[in-house]
Amino acid sequence: MVERTAGRQVGLKRAFALTFVVLLVELAGGLASHSLALLSDAGHVLIDVFALGLAWFAVQQARRPADQRRSYGYQRATILAALLNSAALVVIVLAIGYEAVRRLAAPEPVQGGIVVVAALVGIAINSYVVLGLRGHTANLNMRAALLHVTGDVAASIGVVIAGMVILLTHWLYIDPLLSIGIAALIAYGAWGIVRETVNLLMEGTPREIDLATVTHEITGTKKVIGVHDLHVWALSSEAMALSAHVVVDDCPLGDAEHLVRDLEQRLCDRFSIGHTTIQVESCHPCGDIEHGAGAHNHPHEHVIVTSSARPRAAGSGGPAR
Ligand SMILES: [Zn+2]
Ligand SMILES: [Zn+2]
Ligand SMILES: [Zn+2]
Ligand SMILES: [Zn+2]
Repeated sequence: MVERTAGRQVGLKRAFALTFVVLLVELAGGLASHSLALLSDAGHVLIDVFALGLAWFAVQQARRPADQRRSYGYQRATILAALLNSAALVVIVLAIGYEAVRRLAAPEPVQGGIVVVAALVGIAINSYVVLGLRGHTANLNMRAALLHVTGDVAASIGVVIAGMVILLTHWLYIDPLLSIGIAALIAYGAWGIVRETVNLLMEGTPREIDLATVTHEITGTKKVIGVHDLHVWALSSEAMALSAHVVVDDCPLGDAEHLVRDLEQRLCDRFSIGHTTIQVESCHPCGDIEHGAGAHNHPHEHVIVTSSARPRAAGSGGPAR
């Protein structure tokens, strides 16, 4: 885990530096050739530099230890970064669309030779970045970063073709038409990331988890009568948590604890759920109470008096007001 994170860190740092070089090359090429295609591609790369910086920041946040204020640690920062990456992708698509419509209405003369050379340099560097990032696609941010750079390569190929067509035929409309196709490709890829990020923020059941199978795994345990208030959610794109109330036959506390330890082990082995909170109920199970949003997950009908919870006289022992 630590090694994987460190490797990703290095991969992101290299991608960040190389993408910045692409930005400079395309900016210079765009200014020299008076090509709006290259300039808008440079703007696209600028957002990629921003997105890679965010992903890099998120990986660093995920490595910070938990503290009193953030008891889960900072791994959810990766979800915030993924959401911002997605928003950046939407902005890229809108910018390309706007630019394409503008140029369809009023095509401008372009020096095709410089366009082709600058875009080829961008393709060479971005291909190298894609190869470096490809090993880490399980992580949402790395996938977002990879999608960005892949979109860059596609955009640059489009720019090369546009530059060559302009060189050979002087047909200026090729450039905005290709841009629209590339924008559609980026939008399609962004949609998947947006959907997954929203599911994480909604505390939705992770894609790889089937709640019915988890229920079956728990209720299949000896002594377990039922399970309710079962939640499985993702803390980040890599860590999952589970909480549940498990109703068991009356048994000694030690047996109940062994049962919980056994459950934890199996949930970890079978579903890779590393963070479990299991509440054992026997004498006073919750019954049919509502477990929806805003509802309490415990019965209120009766008071349970134990030797350690003696009723106190009103006004004594409470905080001074
Ligand atoms: Zn485990
Ligand atoms: Zn009781
Ligand atoms: Zn319960
Ligand atoms: Zn309550």
